Amino acid sequence: MLKHLYIRVQGIVQGVGFRPFIYRLAYENHIKGYVLNDTEGVTIEAEADEESLKRFVKAIKRDFPPLAVVQAIKVKEGPLCHYNRFWIEKSRQTDKKNTFMPPDTNLCKDCLKELFDPNDRRYHYPFITCTHCGPRFSIIKDIPYDRQNTAMAPFPMCPDCKREYENPFDRRFHTQPTACPVCGPHLFLYRNDKTLISENTDEITQKTYELLKKGHIVAIKGVGGFHLACDAANDAAVLKLRKRKRRPFKPFALMTGNLKRIKDFLYVSKREEELLLSKERPIVILKEKVPIVSRHIAPHLTHIGIMLPYTPFQHLFFSLDKDLILVMTSGNLSDEPIAFKDREAFERLSSIADYFVTYNREIIAQSDDSVMFVLNDNPFFIRRSRGFVPVPFLIRENFKNHLFASGADLKNCFAVAKDNVIILSQYLGDLESLVTQQIYKRTVAHFKKVFDLHPEVFISDMHPGYFTTALADELAEGKARLRVQHHHAHIASVMAEHDLVGPVIGLAFDGTGYGTDGHIWGSEFLICDRKQFERAGHFSYFGLPGGEKAIKEVWRIGLSLLYEAGVDINLLPLTKAQPKKGFILQMLKKRLNCPLACSIGRIFDGIAAILGICETISTEAEAAQRLEEEAFKAKECSSFKVGFEETDGGQIVIPTSAIVREIVSFMEKGIPVPEIALAFHRCLIEISFETVQRLKEKYALKTVVLNGGAFQNRILLKGLWQRLKEAGFKVFLPQKTPLNDGGIALGQIIIGKEMLNG
Ligand code: ZN
Ligand code: ZN
Ligand code: FE
Repeated sequence: MLKHLYIRVQGIVQGVGFRPFIYRLAYENHIKGYVLNDTEGVTIEAEADEESLKRFVKAIKRDFPPLAVVQAIKVKEGPLCHYNRFWIEKSRQTDKKNTFMPPDTNLCKDCLKELFDPNDRRYHYPFITCTHCGPRFSIIKDIPYDRQNTAMAPFPMCPDCKREYENPFDRRFHTQPTACPVCGPHLFLYRNDKTLISENTDEITQKTYELLKKGHIVAIKGVGGFHLACDAANDAAVLKLRKRKRRPFKPFALMTGNLKRIKDFLYVSKREEELLLSKERPIVILKEKVPIVSRHIAPHLTHIGIMLPYTPFQHLFFSLDKDLILVMTSGNLSDEPIAFKDREAFERLSSIADYFVTYNREIIAQSDDSVMFVLNDNPFFIRRSRGFVPVPFLIRENFKNHLFASGADLKNCFAVAKDNVIILSQYLGDLESLVTQQIYKRTVAHFKKVFDLHPEVFISDMHPGYFTTALADELAEGKARLRVQHHHAHIASVMAEHDLVGPVIGLAFDGTGYGTDGHIWGSEFLICDRKQFERAGHFSYFGLPGGEKAIKEVWRIGLSLLYEAGVDINLLPLTKAQPKKGFILQMLKKRLNCPLACSIGRIFDGIAAILGICETISTEAEAAQRLEEEAFKAKECSSFKVGFEETDGGQIVIPTSAIVREIVSFMEKGIPVPEIALAFHRCLIEISFETVQRLKEKYALKTVVLNGGAFQNRILLKGLWQRLKEAGFKVFLPQKTPLNDGGIALGQIIIGKEMLNG
């Protein structure tokens, strides 16, 4: 019996080859009707017998094109129209604008084959792309997504490209960025004084290779911005890059041409392999097996971040040498955003790079490489950016207004929301620097344009001193303005990801977050839903002598922890602390300029200082990472335990000082540092677990959410997760957003929505 179906597909379904895919499917399944793009997605009218229609719908759900992200398929039956064929109907405009846009992805297999096929007209062409791959988010200027609204506007298509573009059966049908050597952009190689060296692709590839092998630093324009590249096996080159970039500790990411080369020196699990080879091509953090790259790539660390090529130029480049391993770090100075405009790159990077490989197409939206790691076979984000942005998060119930959430000041991402979608921005970095603040404002304006947003609600953190708080005030211009507690946002973002309504027991362990009592929180045990939270437990407070200063000079925290624990402060072996010890002690005694904190991040800092692992840091979490590395070295360890106290109000307080006293007694017994470091991790796991147990009894809850930057610590995350699972808890973790403050904005949106509901 003939049936008529009306099918609506929502998600990233435009500019990704969806209509030709449907056309082919219709043909295979003898479907009559049509397919069209409208502003909300793709609409299909399909007529056939019931069996064929079933197969058709099933195949839509299963076999959609690689760049498509299908988020909802709605099927409705309608009256028969007795079509006699299937066709692609002209796009239909409604007053609503489509909010979906594909991310930038790795070159597809077909393009890769053409890139290396001497008979193809795009042989060695570094801007080869098709409907299934290449740059999107980074080159889109405005909506609708047409060529004239992209960075490809200055490159009119040649007749050959146009023919492909107009043919629904061609892989480049409606591929907006399609180009060829005749009509598209091309590469340039410059010296850092802007002397042009070459405009010929093959020559540039070869010369760049030679320059890198000689130990030079080359800035290479990629998809989301410039990378700084050097030979990863060359100590002098890596050290030169560290010095010029003013980055003494933070590890450099690597790139090499093939998976086999990665396996030569890093351990790769099945899951990690999938991530490395995925079309998103993130940096994956892997454990080192054999030391074949410079020791200065990731000083003091046993894990290294690496990725595989994703731009045509990178693929071309690594085809010259299958063993080559390059440092490919973001083109910036320390914590500034990645440089992505040519002029600006020459200004900011010519003191770092000796040469520049660039091209005459603009990057509209910058993005850094995404960074992930795998634990217990689960992928986690440290940074969610290129390849993943702007893939939206869907919620069940529509937003009544457009929302803007400004995120947090560190590792910033902001978020926007309308209809039933939330879009998280790319990673924007630390908003301390003026350059980052400008980029932030520019990116917010860009998002408003390309996603057609008119926010009426502005959400920020509660921190009165945050740039993002001030900016939300400024943007709101008298419209609705909401403030969300930092750690509540951490937990809510995981609840959003996993569609949890709550209440849950939420553990937010991180570096810094402003608490409702005005102190610095970050060891929070919350009982919360999407609207409100109760602070059910936390570690006890300690002073941060000198405030901000203590965050860089972690020996100050070490001193403070010893002081609060009432033990001999002369145990602190660090040289930098020596001359200032008396002064800091006075500060602590008089509580002068000693803001109170209880965050796990700061506890890690202080313990690292006490153990003599680290006295000052150059980048956030350096002390914690090095403390974790010490613990990795320990095989077995004696353990210590601490208990918790309950206040009159029933709040659980874990005594930080008790932990410090145990550590000191271990030191006095002469137990080696790695063993103490491991014992410390285990103590945190155990006491956190016991606290959760207590909360389970008290609140009758069995669902636990873990989030926050401190859970980037593998020992802590793995240990606590396992302990909770074994005890029968349902444990939820962030899988689509970063564990650190990069996911805060999603939580802000979710909580903001509930607050609006009254
Ligand atoms: Zn392709
Ligand atoms: Zn062309
Ligand atoms: Fe945080």
